[in-house]
Amino acid sequence: MESITKNAISIEKVQSSKIALVDFDNLAFGSVFSDHMLVCDYRNGAWENPKIVPYGPISLAPAAKIFHYGQSIFEGMKAYKDDTDSIFLFRPKDNHKRFNISASRMSMPELPEEYFMEGLKTLLELDKAWIPQSEGSAMYIRPFMFASGEGFHASPADAYKFMICLAPSGPYFAGKVKVLIEEKYSRSANGGVGYAKTGGNYAGQFHPTQLAKSKGYHQVIWTDDHKHENIEEAGAMNIFVRIGDTLITGPTSDRILDGITRKSVLEVAESEGIKTEVRTITVTEVVAAAKDGSLKEMFGAGTAAVISPIAGFGYRDTDYELQEVENSYAALFKKRITDIQYNRAKDPFGWRV
Ligand code: PMP
Repeated sequence: MESITKNAISIEKVQSSKIALVDFDNLAFGSVFSDHMLVCDYRNGAWENPKIVPYGPISLAPAAKIFHYGQSIFEGMKAYKDDTDSIFLFRPKDNHKRFNISASRMSMPELPEEYFMEGLKTLLELDKAWIPQSEGSAMYIRPFMFASGEGFHASPADAYKFMICLAPSGPYFAGKVKVLIEEKYSRSANGGVGYAKTGGNYAGQFHPTQLAKSKGYHQVIWTDDHKHENIEEAGAMNIFVRIGDTLITGPTSDRILDGITRKSVLEVAESEGIKTEVRTITVTEVVAAAKDGSLKEMFGAGTAAVISPIAGFGYRDTDYELQEVENSYAALFKKRITDIQYNRAKDPFGWRV
């Protein structure tokens, strides 16, 4: 395996920082970027040494395959600061593993773990003043890779760029969301790329999500592409349903992303003695449970929003509302996971780095 040391990462610092221009009390999600970024080229079958340079535009050939065939992948993770200014990552090696799973599906070269971890740590150390500290805020980290090699031949490129950019961010959703169960469009299919974090997967969601927004919903609940009967994901989050006291989420597959928050929720649920089922959830049973009152909670789980409680859902022109519950599972999971992320509690799982 290729290895890298911190010394191999060259650093060109900004002449003057932009940090004074940022209002850290009113951060949106992922819309301001820190001073520096990491760039690493793959050419002639090998990764070159990473460089850290000022954040800014990059130059690419018009024939770069990213523009034509969308060969691109990304990850989403966060760095958290506690009240002593120590910095933490949450299960970062799982993001690296998933990055390479996405790379392999898109015929892109795998990135050695050291490039990912050392590059990330060096960049975060340099821009650590940008990591927000207020409740609900964190440094959103975007590692990504795309085909920089040229050619109109529809085949994998011969050159790639791996980059990391950092965006100090506030909460993803403010409050509870209303979702629409989607019956026409699909985000993924068996044998497809739903389990990979690849660009086009997300662009394909924009149109159906815009349609749902125009009807007053925040997000789409994706169902299976075949019969639109199995509940699969909530926008770009995994979905959980609580019927009675049982927590249910669908199994990961070709169609469902193997979310790190999802698996953390499952582990916390087990440690809390909550009855959990990993199995297909049908629209029919969720609608029936909403009607008979046994549907207690629904929530999305993902890095950006952590846990996003769902206030109600629309299905075939009817809106179903969920009542507030005492002892909410969503609130419990959010607290247990964020306490570990922000170093406010012990981490019995060994997730904090
Ligand atoms: N599903 C999809 C489609 C996603 O893009 C994400 C965000 N990465 C998730 C689920 C949640 O995954 P994670 O908990 O690892 O952020």
